[in-house]
Amino acid sequence: MARVYNFSAGPSMLPVEVLKEAAEEMLDYNGTGMGVMEMSHRSKAFAEIIESAEQDLRDLMNIPDNYKVLFVQGGASQQFAAIPMNLMKNRVADYIVTGQWAKKAYEEACKYGKCNKIASSEDKTFSYIPDCSDLPISDDADYVYICHNNTIYGTTFKKLPNTKGKLLVADMSSDILSQPVNVSDYGLIYFGVQKNVGPAGVVVVIIREDLITDDVLEGTPTMLKYKTQADAASLYNTPNAYGIYICGKVFKHLKKLGGLEKMKEINEKKAKILYDFLDSSKLFKGTVVKEDRSLMNVPFVTGSDELDAKFVKEATEAGFVNLKGHRSVGGMRASIYNAMPIEGVEKLVEFMKKFEADNA
Ligand SMILES: *Cc1c(COP(=O)(O)O)cnc(C)c1O
Repeated sequence: MARVYNFSAGPSMLPVEVLKEAAEEMLDYNGTGMGVMEMSHRSKAFAEIIESAEQDLRDLMNIPDNYKVLFVQGGASQQFAAIPMNLMKNRVADYIVTGQWAKKAYEEACKYGKCNKIASSEDKTFSYIPDCSDLPISDDADYVYICHNNTIYGTTFKKLPNTKGKLLVADMSSDILSQPVNVSDYGLIYFGVQKNVGPAGVVVVIIREDLITDDVLEGTPTMLKYKTQADAASLYNTPNAYGIYICGKVFKHLKKLGGLEKMKEINEKKAKILYDFLDSSKLFKGTVVKEDRSLMNVPFVTGSDELDAKFVKEATEAGFVNLKGHRSVGGMRASIYNAMPIEGVEKLVEFMKKFEADNA
């Protein structure tokens, strides 16, 4: 069996250890005589799976007791609507638009109230994070929204915006668990798990308890009301049980590796290998400003569409797959999430050096 180095932006690589464990338990989970896919979500075995997944996530992220953890479905995109429906008490929200995902969230929220785009980096193809130290935060804003790591463009917030006391809401789909997070800085954090945690189909919402109320916008679907999910401990209806089970295994795996401080150290080391090469290369160059570079998604170009295509083709043949950049940026993008081993990045850089020499 040959595993490739999969640089996909998502769904993406999972730790081999986790996949092997899941394979072993496919037919018989823990002596139950059935696999987790076949199991009632009301069973004792599954209760233990979801409860320990939540506890392990709480341990990893140091989630304070006054925050709830919800496992929901509908993708991160569903939260673009759920957030305004649940949090827009004044029907006003401020959005910082730093990429396509933030833009989509902004456009969706506009359906439910008055949305203000208080900062944007669209003028330069989202290649930087705007200065957010003194933004025109609306007096009556229910929350300020950010996409913490911009998967497509490869930028990230190194410093949180000054929300002037307003609630901060963050999409952390593509950098959750890559480094420690001070959860108390946020009213709500959510992430689709398929980038840096598990298989597609699970979204985790970490929300401060006082924000979970019956006071939601009229017409909010029962399933999208956080209170429904919180009151039912994420079991209002049938959850993505298998997805939650794999996420739980990844949480345990990260704890074993040494937690999020350790992941940050590894991720910084890994990203530095690639960025240092891009900064020294005569052929390849990064597409975003240095200060705002993501640890997870690294877009780069050669400057020639033809060479980009040649590179992607030859890299694929050499076992470095899914390096083609997003259609809105072009070029290449290497997503180097938690599960990408350091040698994957080292070997990619070796390959890039060789390609550069061959195409000089
Ligand atoms: C991938 C992604 C999304 C969309 O996720 P879906 O689960 O496909 O809806 C949203 N936000 C960010 C930051 C992403 O990377």
